[in-house]
Amino acid sequence: VLSNLTTLSLASDNKTVSIGPAFRWGDVYKYLQQYNLSVAGGRLSPVGVPGLLLGGGINFYGNQVGFSADTVTKYEVVTAKGDIIYATSTANSDLFWALKGGSSNFGIVTRFTMKTFPSKKVWAGIYSVGPDNLPQFLSVGRTGSILSICTENLYRLLQTTRRQSLMPNLTLSQP
Ligand SMILES: Cc1cc2nc3c(=O)[nH]c(=O)nc-3n(C[C@H](O)[C@H](O)[C@H](O)COP(=O)(O)OP(=O)(O)OC[C@H]3O[C@@H](n4cnc5c(N)ncnc54)[C@H](O)[C@@H]3O)c2cc1C
Repeated sequence: VLSNLTTLSLASDNKTVSIGPAFRWGDVYKYLQQYNLSVAGGRLSPVGVPGLLLGGGINFYGNQVGFSADTVTKYEVVTAKGDIIYATSTANSDLFWALKGGSSNFGIVTRFTMKTFPSKKVWAGIYSVGPDNLPQFLSVGRTGSILSICTENLYRLLQTTRRQSLMPNLTLSQP
């Protein structure tokens, strides 16, 4: 039963962590927290480690490290023949490639080795723009960029807000 595969062990150089498929991301983060480290895993703690890593994995660090699977450096796999093999960028490299999104089609993964990175604190917040600065904010990115799509939607929302007299003094210029 995969829930018995409970390896959770940081390498001696702290650069990688080996994770058995029993775990959910919350367990992994809690374990790594004591070392001020983290991994690019799931965004919610109850999500399982194996399914996410074998499916690719969208994470909070995607703009820096790509998919979660991109940070896996080694897989321990039991093949359909019952052999235990390892897949890395140099050993069984075709399997290594296929497991990064190939789901359950290429064997049972009994251990994942993932890159760690320092993560002392997690910052979260809301970016807000006061009414005085809204015209400048809305005038940014008028050239078909993603930002312009956001500002156009925001413009429509603010028009409604003004109509409903929630911000009667708001001056809007068309984005
Ligand atoms: C609330 C919620 C939040 C989510 N957030 C994210 C997110 O932030 N990022 C993201 O990318 N995805 C997210 N997902 C999707 C999530 O990654 C998938 O549902 C994933 O399959 C969950 O992994 P699991 O191990 O629990 O899956 P399971 O349902 O256990 O397995 C999924 C598939 O993988 C196979 N499998 C499981 N273990 C192994 C193994 N050891 N070897 C081989 N095959 C195996 C199973 O047979 C099955 O086909 C979220 C899902 C939910 C419900």
